[in-house]
Amino acid sequence: MSQSNEEKVVDTILAGFPSARLNVIQKADTTEFYISLDSFVLIEINDKRAKFNFPTRTKGEMHWRGILEGGPKQAGEMILRYLADAGYVVFRSPGKRIRKSPISIGRFTFCPNCGVSGHVKEILYGLPAEGYDEEKYVLGGCCLDPEGRDPEINCSNCGWSGQLEDVRFTRRKHDG
Ligand SMILES: [Zn+2]
Repeated sequence: MSQSNEEKVVDTILAGFPSARLNVIQKADTTEFYISLDSFVLIEINDKRAKFNFPTRTKGEMHWRGILEGGPKQAGEMILRYLADAGYVVFRSPGKRIRKSPISIGRFTFCPNCGVSGHVKEILYGLPAEGYDEEKYVLGGCCLDPEGRDPEINCSNCGWSGQLEDVRFTRRKHDG
């Protein structure tokens, strides 16, 4: 019997995620693949979709019929990228770790506190260069925390401040 597409997705994920474990459960009309780490199920895959039980920028699911380009290998690689962004140790090839994607702050960055977009800006410390971009940056003054725990970003809507990592997965609140 030839390999199903979802088996190919599962194989791609497992090849890049050596610390994960796979459980396969045969059901009446479908096969469920459970990919787990330390007995916590991170990904549930069947012939219709992959469901993610870890933070992602998507709505927590990937439906195969929604994929317009690429095949199961590309879908598996995209899931490895999601795992990397969530902080899991995954590899694109043996020994080559996938690093987290850089976080860019922009008009569509949602504040983790008030949930509003368009107000999160990067904090500039010290004396700003003349003509700095006020749309992108806010001034943080000159006093740096000697332990390096200064906030990196600030929301001008609610006054929240924190680290870039805090907005990696934020999105519009009513998106569910
Ligand atoms: Zn806010």
